[in-house]
Amino acid sequence: MAADRPALAIPQTDPRAGYLAQRTAIDAAIARVLDSGSYILGREVESFEAAFANFLGVAHAVGVASGTDAIEIALRACEIGSGDLVFTVSHTAVATVAAIERAGATPVLVDVEPGTYTMASRELARALETPPSGRPAAVLPVHIYGQPAELSALTDIACAYGLRLIEDCAQSHGALYRGAAVGSFGDLACFSFYPTKNLGALGDGGMVVTNDSALATALHELREYGWRERYVSASRGINSRLDPIQAAILGIKLRSLPAGNARRQAIADRYDAGLRGLPLVLPARRPQASHVFHQYVIRLAARDPLREALRAAGIGSGVHYPVPVHQQPAYSGRLTCGPSGLGVTERAAPQILSLPIFPELSDDAVDRVIASIQGFFDRAPLQC
Ligand SMILES: *Cc1c(COP(=O)(O)O)cnc(C)c1O
Repeated sequence: MAADRPALAIPQTDPRAGYLAQRTAIDAAIARVLDSGSYILGREVESFEAAFANFLGVAHAVGVASGTDAIEIALRACEIGSGDLVFTVSHTAVATVAAIERAGATPVLVDVEPGTYTMASRELARALETPPSGRPAAVLPVHIYGQPAELSALTDIACAYGLRLIEDCAQSHGALYRGAAVGSFGDLACFSFYPTKNLGALGDGGMVVTNDSALATALHELREYGWRERYVSASRGINSRLDPIQAAILGIKLRSLPAGNARRQAIADRYDAGLRGLPLVLPARRPQASHVFHQYVIRLAARDPLREALRAAGIGSGVHYPVPVHQQPAYSGRLTCGPSGLGVTERAAPQILSLPIFPELSDDAVDRVIASIQGFFDRAPLQC
């Protein structure tokens, strides 16, 4: 963030507010770890892993150093690597695709649904009917913005083709699909605890969850040098462990995650009511799912002028994400996409805008954002 810019009156996100809201408990948890003398894995990590697995309703949770590592390690636990195709989306954080490549596999990008921006199952089916060269190995949908992807159709397709289903839950801690938590549907699911996520650490962190105990064993090995027992590397592992200080902080923050998600949903409802009728597209909500609104994303052609007007009013906003992965400099021209291309993804990128949303955001601040957007359209020339 540019140092010469004044702090925004209403930021788009505010991880510090999440810390301050529970400062006493978090400071005590950090002090407890420092006093324990145990600074790698150990009880703090195990107890958070157990709490998180219990929260999701899964059998195993394995803490790792980041969400990106979680995806790489999940793929490697399935022995997916060189020559294997992993079907995912381009409308995501670059981390999703970067992790697939780090595992040595080949990402195949399929387009998203225009309403929810999650993987379009028809496009996945089409891509599998005429796959590029390689062995189709996994489907990796992203529950983007906190909204579950169309899991029933994606699961059916994964089963029909004998593919692993690996969920990218980095934005969807606590979201439900047909009453069950996302992360409990796939063979494996990957979470990030990046500070601004719905469940955020005060630093980096990630988690892989699974109901399969053989996969859990592989995950434990991979995150720590491939050790099956200390100093005996049974597989070619890496070093990617969840830090115990972060685990202790996350244990505190997990308790307030349901309330935080409920507050995000209340903010989303308030935006929906206040923005209805304006010439912009409000977030779609999938029936039979509960959206936890990691982001509240509107869509309009005049995205950049609105963004500037909000900034002038001291209101932050974000774009998630401004450039699809396949158009990023490191990836452009060399990634494989599905047969019908990525038109929905490409048309969305210049029009999407993420409004301020985080649990500590007040109703008054939400109303000021709504009023600024209304004011923008009142001043704008009439559109046909
Ligand atoms: C944040 C995020 C990641 C990466 O998580 P890190 O912890 O930053 O490595 C992966 N996928 C999605 C969809 C994300 O939002």
